[in-house]
Amino acid sequence: MLDTLITGGMIPDFDAGVMKPANVGISGNKVHFVGDSEPAAREVIDASGCVVSPGFIDIHMHEENFAEGRQYVIADLMLRMGVTTALGGNCGIQYQPMAEFRQNVHALHGAPINYMIVSGYNRYRYVLGLGHHDVITRAQQDQIRQFIQKDLEDGAIGISFGIEYDPIMTTEEMLYACKAADSPDHLVTAHYRTDADGAIDSIREMIRIQEEIPGKYQISHLSSCSAFGQMKEALDMIHEYMDRDPRLDYDTYPYSAFSTYIGFTTFDGEDPMKQWGKDYPDLLLTEPPYENVRCTKEIFEDARKNYPNMLAVAFAMNEDEIRMAVADSRGMIASDGIISGGKGHPRAAGTFPRVLGKYVREEGALSLVEAIRKMTDAPARRLGLKNKGRIFEGADADLVIFDPETIADRATFTETALPPDGIRLAYVGGIKALEGHDILCRTAGNVLGINGKIL
Ligand SMILES: [Zn+2]
Repeated sequence: MLDTLITGGMIPDFDAGVMKPANVGISGNKVHFVGDSEPAAREVIDASGCVVSPGFIDIHMHEENFAEGRQYVIADLMLRMGVTTALGGNCGIQYQPMAEFRQNVHALHGAPINYMIVSGYNRYRYVLGLGHHDVITRAQQDQIRQFIQKDLEDGAIGISFGIEYDPIMTTEEMLYACKAADSPDHLVTAHYRTDADGAIDSIREMIRIQEEIPGKYQISHLSSCSAFGQMKEALDMIHEYMDRDPRLDYDTYPYSAFSTYIGFTTFDGEDPMKQWGKDYPDLLLTEPPYENVRCTKEIFEDARKNYPNMLAVAFAMNEDEIRMAVADSRGMIASDGIISGGKGHPRAAGTFPRVLGKYVREEGALSLVEAIRKMTDAPARRLGLKNKGRIFEGADADLVIFDPETIADRATFTETALPPDGIRLAYVGGIKALEGHDILCRTAGNVLGINGKIL
C-alpha cells in the first residue's frame, strides 16, 4: 500500500512540453507510482485543479547564517514558496565553512529543505584579512586554495566568486583558485565584475573562465547584471556560446530591483546611483535606524559609514529586460535570496510564485510547463540530481502542489517575508513538510554533495 496518493492533478511532461493529468503515489521517500489508476494508499490527497510539480530547485541562494543563531530563517521562506532543494554559498559570500554548516544542520537533525553549498572565495580573502582593494600574494592564494579544498572534501560542490565585491581580483586569480575544483562535476558560480555598461565585458570574462575550467560555469543573477539595456546582447552572446558548449548557463530572478550590502563596492564612487541612471531615493534601506527608508545623500553616507552590513534595495533595472530573461529558453529561475538580521529582499520569499503568477498567468511571457522546467528539471540536471526535478517512479518524493489560478507572491520591499498565495502542500523526501503557510517538518531535508549524495 502507498503512503500517499495525490489524485486529479496535472504534472509537467518536459519532453512533450505539456502539462498532463496523472495521479502520483508516494512510498517512503520516493515517488512510487505515476499513472491513471488509483492504487490503495493510507492517505489520499485530492489535487483537482492543482499542479503537482517536482519541488522547486533554487540554484542560487544564500544559505543559513548560523552565526545569527542556530535556527532556520531563509530555509523556511524557501519551503513556503515551494523550494525543496537550494544551493547556498553563492557570490563568494558563503557564511561558514562547509564542515561547520553540516555540523549545524546535523545538530538540528535535518533542515526544512535540502541544501547544497559552493565554497565562497571572497569569504576566504576576508578571513586572510584582505580588503576589497588589496592585492593577493601567491602564498595567500595557496592558503585559500587549501580552504576551498577542505570545503570540497567536506561536500561543497564547487566554488563561488563575487568579482564585483573585490574588484582587484583578476581573472588569473580566479583561475588559480579554480584549480581546486578540477572535476567536470564541479560548479563554478560567479557574481560578475560590473553591471550595466560593463555587463557585456563581464560576461566575456566569465566565458573565458568557462573555456579554461573542466567543470560547469554559472553566471549568477543575470538580471542584476544586464537589465540596464544590455539584456538582449547578453542573451545573444550566452546562447551563441551555449550552442557550442552547454557547460555554461545562467540564472536570473524576477524583480527589477537588486539588493546587496550598503557597504559593498557596488555603491563606491561619487553619486553611485548615477551609474544606473538613478538617484538616491531609488535606494531603499532595510534595517533600523533606516528600516524602509529611501535614501538621501546624507542618509546614504551615514548608512555606508555606520551600518555597512545593512542590506539595501536598488530600484534600478528595466522590467522588459527582466521579463526577457525569465522567459528565455536558456537559463534557470533562482531567487538569489539573502537574509540579514531577518531582513532582505522579497525575492527570498516570492521568486518562484512570482514567476508562475505574474509572468506565466498574468502576462503570458512563458508557458506554465516551461516555467516549471526552468525551476526544476533544468537546475536538477545542472546539479547532477538525477532523482530530482522530474516526477517518475523512483524519483525522490520532493513535490509541491500549487493552484495555477491563484499562485502569487505577496512579499514586498516593506514586508519581505510574507508567504505566497496558492502553494497548498510540499513534500520533502516523502514527508509532508508544508501545508499552506504552515511548516509541518523542519528536519526532512539533507545536506547534499556532488551528484546529490547525502552527507
Ligand atoms: Zn550576487
